[in-house]
Amino acid sequence: MKTGKMKSENFNNFNKYLEKRIRDTVEKYKLIKPGEKVAVALSGGKDSVLTLHILNELRKDFNFDLLAISIHEGISGYRREGLKIAEKNADDMGVELVKKFFKDEFGFGIDDISNLYKSACIPCGVLRRYLLNKTAYEIGASKIATGHNLDDEVQSFLMSFARADFRKFGKFGPKSRKIHPKLVPRIKPLWNIPEREVGIWAVLNNIGAHFAECPYSHMSLRSKTKDFLNKMESEEPRTKLAILKSFEETFKPEKTTPKLYECNKCGEPSSSGVCKVCELLDEINEVI
Ligand code: SF4
Repeated sequence: MKTGKMKSENFNNFNKYLEKRIRDTVEKYKLIKPGEKVAVALSGGKDSVLTLHILNELRKDFNFDLLAISIHEGISGYRREGLKIAEKNADDMGVELVKKFFKDEFGFGIDDISNLYKSACIPCGVLRRYLLNKTAYEIGASKIATGHNLDDEVQSFLMSFARADFRKFGKFGPKSRKIHPKLVPRIKPLWNIPEREVGIWAVLNNIGAHFAECPYSHMSLRSKTKDFLNKMESEEPRTKLAILKSFEETFKPEKTTPKLYECNKCGEPSSSGVCKVCELLDEINEVI
């Protein structure tokens, strides 16, 4: 009996600890202003589900509107399951969920074109970011909240660093700036929460989150970077947090954020005359 009570106290303490850290991030970096409309990018994975749960708690105190967007990339046996979980969580909280499908928007899913690229993540990432932003803009969201955690952030930072892709540095940090009227700024309430803690939260609270790995994830540079960082962390604990802190101390967003224009073909925000999405679609439509 005592053990059961202790366990439930531990759960509650862990939940409070996690919520406090995320609340502190929202406050410290002023991620949300009163009256805003925040769209959670809800994949059904543990990170996006935690983001939805916490923002649903915070909306009472911070006074903002909350909804969610789910994107189905057309990856069989993977995304459908995630989408079901996204629907259930949104339903349970009474949050409106907007669903978008690659097939409807582009005429193909990732499974149809995965063999055209060294990694399926190349087209998938570009097209998903585009569709998420376009949807958020169309429904009048003023922020997109993503489930990026500490591990994701440090992996992305190292990958861009290793490629000398300094323009991407503007995407790091807990929030992005509004650099184009059609580009909805992103916020990352979990940006300093280790992935392990998100996993513990999902298991302890028996949250129906999608834990499966995308069948294409092994093809990505991210997966190799993740293994490398996990090895470093197991040998030198707190390495990931130290990288995040180093980045925060040295990062100058105004020097690395690219100027954006409108794509000559589709009119969406672009750092060059024709955006990456139109380039990709031209390439793909030539061969399918
Ligand atoms: Fe898309 Fe790659 Fe993520 Fe799979 S792992 S959902 S292919 S970006």
